Order: sequence, then structure tokens, then C-alpha cells
Amino acid sequence: MKTFFVTTPIYYVNDRPHIGHAYTTVVADAMARFRRLRGDRVLFSTGVDENSQKNVKAMTKAGETDLNAYLDRMAEAWKTTWSSFGLSDHAFIRTTSAEHRAAVERFWKAAMESGDIYQAEYEGLYCTGCEAFKTETEVQDGRCPLHPNAELQSITERNYFFRASSYRDALLKLYEDRPEFVMPDARRNEIRNYVKDHFADFSVSREAKSLEVGIPVPGDESQRIYVWFDALINYVTVAGYGTDDAAFADIWPADLHLVGKDIIKFHCALWPAMLMSAAKHDAALRDVDGNAKLPRRVFAHGFFTIDGQKISKSLGNAIDPVELAKGYGDVGIDVLRYFLLRDIPFGEDGDFSRERLKERYVHDLANTFGNLLNRSVAMSRKYFDGKVPHAISHEPAYTFADERGVEALRKAFDAHADALRFDLALETLWNGIGTGDERRFGLLQANKFIEDTKPFQLAKTDMDATGVILYSLLEYCRNVAWLIEPVMPTVTRRIVEQLGQSFDEERTKDIDALVSWGGLRPGSALPEPSILFPPLDRG
Ligand SMILES: [Zn+2]
Repeated sequence: MKTFFVTTPIYYVNDRPHIGHAYTTVVADAMARFRRLRGDRVLFSTGVDENSQKNVKAMTKAGETDLNAYLDRMAEAWKTTWSSFGLSDHAFIRTTSAEHRAAVERFWKAAMESGDIYQAEYEGLYCTGCEAFKTETEVQDGRCPLHPNAELQSITERNYFFRASSYRDALLKLYEDRPEFVMPDARRNEIRNYVKDHFADFSVSREAKSLEVGIPVPGDESQRIYVWFDALINYVTVAGYGTDDAAFADIWPADLHLVGKDIIKFHCALWPAMLMSAAKHDAALRDVDGNAKLPRRVFAHGFFTIDGQKISKSLGNAIDPVELAKGYGDVGIDVLRYFLLRDIPFGEDGDFSRERLKERYVHDLANTFGNLLNRSVAMSRKYFDGKVPHAISHEPAYTFADERGVEALRKAFDAHADALRFDLALETLWNGIGTGDERRFGLLQANKFIEDTKPFQLAKTDMDATGVILYSLLEYCRNVAWLIEPVMPTVTRRIVEQLGQSFDEERTKDIDALVSWGGLRPGSALPEPSILFPPLDRG
């Protein structure tokens, strides 16, 4: 069985999840569901980065003193959000866990044996916002441009260093040989320039006395491991590194790391260099040819703004995604998932606006998709005794789609989804495939098909034709429901049930059986329809 391993970054717990976190996580979940429905064995991981001074600061600010209690409570808050968000089966990693500590220690020792960790005196400016040292070129007016309100700390210490510079050529070769390693293209150019001109040895520890958190350096309790060195290792910990070598061999390397564009240096430069180093002394990290097993793709999305403004605590504009979804009834989470994936081309900067969310709800979901399903079910029940009509004659003019149609639709949908372009995958379901007036098999065309063929009039004179029309619409809705499952899983369930089928039973079939013409049995009972996307309350 093919495996697929997708990760989100692990999030700091200095705050509760907001819509920006939900965005990355929903994309990961959609990808996990997409591959799972297509038969892969999927590992989907997310979690929290607990070994950061940021968390300690937030705790102190909240007036608390028990760090473990704070971390436990915050980890629960994140888990609860993701479970309300309907995330599919996933691993949730905490970097304070014993398994993670064991993995980090093993990894550190391997890099040490490779001769890539050494001690040196360091003097530099540290941004606690980024949890990173800043080089002179990265500082503007004495401040970190990403965190202009935070004072940079001037630090002089004797620390452990990672010999990153000796991996510069190997990294440049990696970007050359495997361009998909850094996506999209703009990010690859950025990272290539960074590695070429600025990639230098990293300080990978801090004095223990200056930190309240962090994993101690193996064999040197006076130092703690730098939070990013520790955090990146989470991706191998969740895959079984250090605890289950057989599982790890099966699932590693990761197929896809989803990250924000502000952390590509860590994921596209430091992380592969760390893996190349540790792999020299740890066979679990090597492939059969003796090369380091590196992640297959790192895909960076853009910054996320709200009504054009950066999400920030001080602006108070951080939206709680679960609260927001409540405004859209019992499929609210699906509505929000749809919006996030449909409205923002993945990889570009995105803006969230409540106004556009409402517009898409009304236009795309209620008026187009919901209306199509509702009319098709209601007419079938009315004219065919509460049942799925028999499609007797086969006049092509009376059928909206067919086997070849849904095949073509799936092909287009899958190609976009594989490329992380759920915006285009969804656009295809609404706008159809083909060009200009030749566009076919979209939800918009299906609604037009009802207006053109008028089954509501035809039912008085030609029941055969009416049956063919309505059967094709119901069967088309069923196919679209399965294509859209990675994005709107609850909606899929509702549609399948409205068509009189058992979702759980259908879900055991493979995708080739689900997305194919004729899955709906003529003569089977259609339950009383209910409105999938009800009108919004005024105001
Ligand atoms: Zn910063």
C-alpha cells in the first residue's frame, strides 16, 4: 500500500488557534483526506512547539507560574479546536513528550558523530519573536522587520554550533535536481539566494541558565538545544524515529511539509542539512543507496491577512475559526473550509473577509450547489413516487453527464489537488471543464441544464425523458459529493444520505467505484429532502 505523510508546522502555544493556523491545518487535512480516499495509507501530523521562551512569556503574562499546567491546558485547547474542526485521523505531537526528547537526543548524537556540532563563542542579535539569531542584513533600524515591536537581545555566549555551511553545495544541488522540494517557484528562488549568500553555521544551543525550557544537550546539562533544531525533529518523531524503526522505515520521508513562507529557511535549508548530517551516522535516516531520506515537497503558503490587515493580538483581529463557523449552521465548518480553500490560491498571500465568505456562501453553496441538489431530489420524489427515477431511454440530450464526463471531471480535480491548488480543483467543480461555451459538467452548467430541459414541464408529456434528466442530475450530484469530500466531508455525508444511501457503507468502496457513473440505484427510495445550505439570518 502506498503511504502518504503530510505535516503542518507545530504551533507555539502562546496563543489559541486563530484563522491563520486553521488555514494551514485545513489544507493539510484536505490533502490527507484526498490521498486517503484514493487508497493511500496516510499519516497526517500536527502539534505544538512547547520548548519556546515565547510560551513562558505568555504564561507569565497570563499570571500563571506552573509551566507544565499551562502547557497541558494549551495543548488541550489546540486539540479541542482541531476536533471541533472535524480534522480527520491525525497524530498530535507535543515537543515536551518523552518520545520526542528521545528522538532529539538520538538525532543530536548522530549529527555530533558526523562532526557537524562544535562549540564556539557567539555574539549576536536574537529575536524572540522569530526564535532566531538575526544577521546584520536581516535587521532594519535595529529591529526585526517581522517583529518591529520586540527588542532584539544582544547575546554573547559559548554555544554549540551546527556546521550548516558545509551543506551549502549539497543544498543547491538539491534545489536543482528536485525543484519540487521547494514550492512555489518564487520561494525556491528566495531560498536558493539565501543559501548561496547567507547560509552560515547555526548556533544550536543556548546556556541553560538563560532559558526556562528546552531539551538539555546530551552530555552537557549546562546547555539546552535551540528550539528550532528541536522543533524540526518533530517530523521524524511522529513517524516513529527513535521509538519504532519499522514504522519509521515505512513512512519516512514526509511527502509534504506545509509551512508559512516566513519559516522556509528552517524547513528548506536547515532541516535538509540536519538530515544529511545525522544520516551519516544513523542508518534509519538513509535510503538503500546510502543517501539521506529528505522530505519530498515543502510547500510554503503566503501571509494571511484579515480585511487587508496583518493578524495581530494588538489589533484584536484574530478570528476564532470555530466561533466564525457557528454563523453558518451545522455545516459551518465545511463552509469555512470551502471558503479558505476556494478563495485563496495556495502559495499566494491571502486575505480573509467576512463579506466574501458570505458572498461565496450565498452564491456558490446555497444558490448553486444546494439549490441543484434540492431541486433534483424534490422533482424526482414528486414525479417518481419518492424514488430515484428509472433512466429508460438514452437520448444524449437528456443526460447531463455520463461515465466519460465524471472521469474527465475527476482527472481535472485530482491534478489540481495533487498540486495543492484546491482553489482550481473547486473552481473546476463549479465552472466545469473545457473552454468558453464548451464548458461542461460544472455545477453552474447543471443548473442551466434544468432551465434548458425543463423537467418540471416535460413531466406532463414525457416521463421517460424526465426520468433520464433527473437521474443524471442526481447521479451527477453524487459524483460531485465524493470529489468534494476532502474539502467538505460533512456535506458529502449529507448529500449521500439525501440520495438514500448509507455514507458509512459507501465510504468502504474505493474511489474508482465512488466516482463513476451509475452508483445510484434506480427505484431506491429518496428521503424527505432538507436544505443543505439554509438562508442566512438577516444581519
Ligand atoms: Zn523576528
